[in-house]
Amino acid sequence: MSEKQYSTDVVIIGAGAGGLFAVFECGMLKMKCHVIDSLEQIGGQCIALYPEKPIYDIPGHPAILAGKLIERLEEQAKPFAPVYHLNQRVLTFKRHSDGRFEVTTSTGAAIDCAAVIVAAGAGAFGPNRPPLDNLAQYEGKSVFYMVKRREDFAGKTLVIAGGGDSAVDWAISLAEVARKIYFVHRRDKFRAAPESVARLHALAGSGKIEMVIPYQLHGLAGASGILQAVELADLDGNKKTIEADVLLPFFGIVPHLDAINDWGIKIDKHHIPVNPATQQTSLAGIFAIGDVATYPRKLKLIVTGFAEAAMAAHAIYPLVFPGQELHFVYSTEKGVK
Ligand SMILES: Cc1cc2nc3c(=O)[nH]c(=O)nc-3n(C[C@H](O)[C@H](O)[C@H](O)COP(=O)(O)OP(=O)(O)OC[C@H]3O[C@@H](n4cnc5c(N)ncnc54)[C@H](O)[C@@H]3O)c2cc1C
Repeated sequence: MSEKQYSTDVVIIGAGAGGLFAVFECGMLKMKCHVIDSLEQIGGQCIALYPEKPIYDIPGHPAILAGKLIERLEEQAKPFAPVYHLNQRVLTFKRHSDGRFEVTTSTGAAIDCAAVIVAAGAGAFGPNRPPLDNLAQYEGKSVFYMVKRREDFAGKTLVIAGGGDSAVDWAISLAEVARKIYFVHRRDKFRAAPESVARLHALAGSGKIEMVIPYQLHGLAGASGILQAVELADLDGNKKTIEADVLLPFFGIVPHLDAINDWGIKIDKHHIPVNPATQQTSLAGIFAIGDVATYPRKLKLIVTGFAEAAMAAHAIYPLVFPGQELHFVYSTEKGVK
C-alpha cells in the first residue's frame, strides 16, 4: 500500500460542525473515520466565516464562540483518532465489486471505506481569485490567499488587495513585520470593523502602509512564480506599477459542490436530497448531513446537523458490521470508547 492509500470504515467529506460530530457518533459505534476538507483547518463555516461570533442556540451553551465550539467538537472527536486530510478537495468515488468504496482527493490520497458521509455544507470553500493572467504560476510562491505564519512576510514589500475584514486586519498585523505594505482597494469604503479601518488609516498616516485607492489589480510581472511588480488600474484605465515581492488578495471565499456533482448522486439546487430516517442519499452507502442535506422542512442549523450525524452513524453501522446487531446503549452507560 502506498503512503497515500488508506482503509477505514467511514469517509466524511467536510470538517465543519456536522462532519466533526459525525466522527464522534461513528466513534461511539466503533467505526473509524477519515475526514477530508478543502480548507487548511477544520471547522467549516464556523471557522472560515465567523470564528469570533457567539452562537446562542447550541444546547447546553447559553452562548459559545463559533471558534470555541469547533475546538470543543475537535476535543470530543479526538478519542476516536480521526485522520484529517486537509487542504484537499474530494475528487472521485467508485464502488468496488465487494460493495466498498474508494474516494480520492486532489492531493492523490485514495481511501477505501464501507460508507461515505457528505457533510459538505455549501460546498468546498476556496479563495475568490482575481482574474489575472498567469496567476496560477505565482500561487503558493508569491501570491497567497491565507497567512499561515506572519514571519514568512518579514522584511518583504507586500501588496494587500481587498476591502473586508481579512484585508484590513492582515494589513494591520503584517505592518509589524513587513518592509512596506501597499493597500489596494477599488473604493474608499470598507466592509470591515470601523475600529480596524481607523487603525489602518492611522498606520497609513505613519508611512508604514501606503493606501492605493481607487485601484484594482490588473496584472502580475515577474518570472518563474517570483513576483517583481503588481500592475494596477483605476476605473478610468489609468495604470500604475508597484514593485513588490508578494501579493495577498483577500476577496473572500466562495463555495463549490465541485466534483461531488459528478458522482451520480441526485442533487437538487446544490443540495443533496436524503431520506431523513437514515440520511441516505439516492446512492446506497452514501449519506449526507448538515447544510448540504435536504428534505421537506429542513432547518439549516448546527443542531440539526448534529442530530443528522447520529442518524447517519446508526444507519451506517450494518454496512461496517454486516450481520451484527446494534444494541443501543446511552453514552452515560458506555462512556467514550
Ligand atoms: C455568519 C453566520 C452565522 C451563523 N449563525 C448560526 C447560529 O447562530 N446557529 C446555527 O445553528 N447556525 C448558524 N449558522 C449556520 C451554521 O454555520 C451552519 O448550519 C453550519 O456551519 C453547517 O455545518 P456543516 O458541517 O453542514 O457545513 P460547513 O460548516 O459548511 O462545513 C462544510 C465543510 O465541507 C468542506 N467541503 C465541501 N465540499 C468539499 C469537497 N468537495 N472537498 C473537500 N471539502 C469539502 C468545506 O470546505 C467546509 O469546511 C451561521 C452561519 C453563518 C454564515
